[in-house]
Amino acid sequence: MTEQITTVSAYAAPAANAPLERTTVPRRAVGEFDVLIDIKYAGICHSDIHQARDGWGEGIFPMVPGHEIAGVVAEVGPGVTKFAVGDRVGVGCMVDSCRECDNCKAGLEQYCVRGNVPTYNGLDHSGEPTYGGYSTHIVVDEAFTVGIPEGISLDVAAPLLCAGITTYSPLKRFHAGPGKKVAVVGLGGLGHMAVKIAHALGAEVTVLSQSLRKKDDGLRLGAEHYYATSDDATFEQLAGSFDMILSTVSAPLPLDKYLGLLRSEGAFVNVGAPEEPVSLNLFSVIGGGKTLAGSMIGGIAETQEMLDFCAEHGLGSEIELIRAEQVNEAYERVLASDVRYRFVIDAATI
Ligand SMILES: [Zn+2]
Ligand SMILES: [Zn+2]
Repeated sequence: MTEQITTVSAYAAPAANAPLERTTVPRRAVGEFDVLIDIKYAGICHSDIHQARDGWGEGIFPMVPGHEIAGVVAEVGPGVTKFAVGDRVGVGCMVDSCRECDNCKAGLEQYCVRGNVPTYNGLDHSGEPTYGGYSTHIVVDEAFTVGIPEGISLDVAAPLLCAGITTYSPLKRFHAGPGKKVAVVGLGGLGHMAVKIAHALGAEVTVLSQSLRKKDDGLRLGAEHYYATSDDATFEQLAGSFDMILSTVSAPLPLDKYLGLLRSEGAFVNVGAPEEPVSLNLFSVIGGGKTLAGSMIGGIAETQEMLDFCAEHGLGSEIELIRAEQVNEAYERVLASDVRYRFVIDAATI
């Protein structure tokens, strides 16, 4: 790739709710601080499906989803200092931000007050649409590219770029670690990473899932306890137990009931987002001085920290590797919660 904009192969939804199909999309020329990444793997995140089906409205089509990208640097711009050709790298949910606001300066680019540039379904600073990871190549500023350490293979690393950082960041912020009891609500793409990471941080992990269907998996992934939330006895038995509850589900939960599972000054943190507002009796947080919080992905420096942590502890995602033409079928299976625990597209098949 040289000075010219290039077209690359990709899988795109041509319109809202249309099946994804193979096409080509433009990639900008490699600029001074850009890296050209030869994509090897792209994870399928639940939010890809939301956006490709325009669940949040105002989608930009054609849309190439994918914000769990792992690949190898194929070319660097003249100003690039962090990476060299051949380096193993990843790209997550954002590819730029204003870089000037207090949040950006504090390493919280995900909360950029001017809005960050999403990896797909957004417009970059020159007003061009961004296209995501279901593609053979992507051009990204080195400041929004992270290194994938040798200790993790690229296929199981890809989902860490969204599912990994989304769970790592709040677990760190609320001090999951030795002596702490952490509950993870939901054992899906996000939840299974939350269990692995919380366990590696040294916390005593409990999974709260609708049924006991995935209990064996939960215990294998690092949980010490596993309870069904469909059983009301769970809420009596575990009342006042946890220092932190991390909810990874997008179904609206009965918050008062869950807040009752926290110890005094414990925190209930949402990374899953129900589409409808939820109700809350504020006495559920006032009594016991509890915290109800939210969290969205993580900053770039923290994403690098998460990858280094995962490599050190031998953590990757549990994946089902698919060919690109299986993507529509994979979407249906994600919606049916029939994946253990993340689909990853082999970019060589795009
Ligand atoms: Zn995601
Ligand atoms: Zn900013």
